[in-house]
Amino acid sequence: MDFEPTPEQQELILIVRKFVREEIVPLEADLPSDAGRLPDEIASRLKKKVAQMGLTSWDAPAEDGGPGLDVVTRTLLAMEMSQHRAGLYASCYGVFGGSGLAHLYEANPDQKERYLYPTLRGERSGFFALSEAGGGSDPARSIRTRAERDGDDWVINGTKMWISNVAESDYGIVVARTGEGRKGLTCFIVDTDAPGFKMLRVIPSLRKVHEPTELVFDDVRVPDSNRLGPVGEGFTLAAGRLANFRIPYSASCVGVAIAAHRLAVDYAQIRETFGKPLAQHQGIQWMLVENEIDIRAARLLVLDAAATADRGGDVKSAASIAKIYCTEAASRVVDRSMQIHGGLGVAADMPFERWFREMRIRRIGEGPNEVQRMVVARSILGSAATVSGATK
Ligand SMILES: Cc1cc2nc3c(=O)[nH]c(=O)nc-3n(C[C@H](O)[C@H](O)[C@H](O)COP(=O)(O)OP(=O)(O)OC[C@H]3O[C@@H](n4cnc5c(N)ncnc54)[C@H](O)[C@@H]3O)c2cc1C
Repeated sequence: MDFEPTPEQQELILIVRKFVREEIVPLEADLPSDAGRLPDEIASRLKKKVAQMGLTSWDAPAEDGGPGLDVVTRTLLAMEMSQHRAGLYASCYGVFGGSGLAHLYEANPDQKERYLYPTLRGERSGFFALSEAGGGSDPARSIRTRAERDGDDWVINGTKMWISNVAESDYGIVVARTGEGRKGLTCFIVDTDAPGFKMLRVIPSLRKVHEPTELVFDDVRVPDSNRLGPVGEGFTLAAGRLANFRIPYSASCVGVAIAAHRLAVDYAQIRETFGKPLAQHQGIQWMLVENEIDIRAARLLVLDAAATADRGGDVKSAASIAKIYCTEAASRVVDRSMQIHGGLGVAADMPFERWFREMRIRRIGEGPNEVQRMVVARSILGSAATVSGATK
């Protein structure tokens, strides 16, 4: 397998890299260290620039108005777009266009007109509500929020926990129980102004942007026209989306690791202790070497998952492996790079402390790493053919 970018991919990488380094990183010097948004005027100027680059909604399929890039190219770009302080959870402060709610690509034409396209144009915004207080690792068993059919409507009752992005959103995709077991879950698009919908509280956490919340659904009426996908297929829809989303999720961790490592390499060459630059102490050199190994391995694993997706292969196990390795390797890289910076490493003047806090969430969010290991174990133990490098 050759993961060297093609000339076309390299051109896109350089365009995005220049944009991040010249437009985004300098802005962060004047923004609060936990900023998640740009002032409106700056955001609209940058959105115009992105439109001129032809990269608005870069991860949308061509039939839905995106540039129609393959998954490997999108992964390469995700690694570039996250190389700044807010890069993990507010990559380029959203100026590349709405994304995230990939479920909506499976919506019907009417739903796409009402929700997907306005989201891609930046006019609407949505959240995704799967987890509940009873457990997020095993949603097929733990979801208690129920949707009951009543004429042309569904009536939703229950609560959701840890749901990000709610304050910024005017609708959400909600997974509710309509029957028993895995085939008893269905997705609905719920407008946040629907009577009975309430954001109960924000849950303060390590991450200050898109803070997680607790939601209440008290007889919330949703028309059947807002049911997303067939009744009983909510788990398949959610799980499929989550598996694919683990690829850009992992790629953004690699991007942050690269940015942290670059800062550490530069600093190690200018900061002196005991009469010589840090970079000449073997202990520091070894940390930098470990960073380099972690980043190269993580990059290859996420590109392998992306190439599997492009081939139409079974992405589940590859995406779980990428998620485990990229989140854990990037945590190590941020930690070592912080250490190399000494006291400066933990100061909010530098991006490490934000990366450190936000990266910790990555081993829990989008399915804890233990659950990803369970997914990989199933694929290894289910059939010898899935053991890497093994022949039948
Ligand atoms: C900041 C933040 C934002 C979030 N945003 C959203 C969102 O927008 N939408 C949404 O739906 N959810 C969201 N979540 C929820 C997140 O997906 C869940 O927290 C996660 O899936 C784990 O669920 P849980 O917290 O209920 O942990 P539990 O399911 O109770 O698991 C607890 C721990 O047990 C371990 N564990 C679980 N199963 C196994 C196993 N089989 N083997 C070994 N160990 C295991 C894991 O270490 C896990 O962390 C968010 C969470 C956070 C922290």
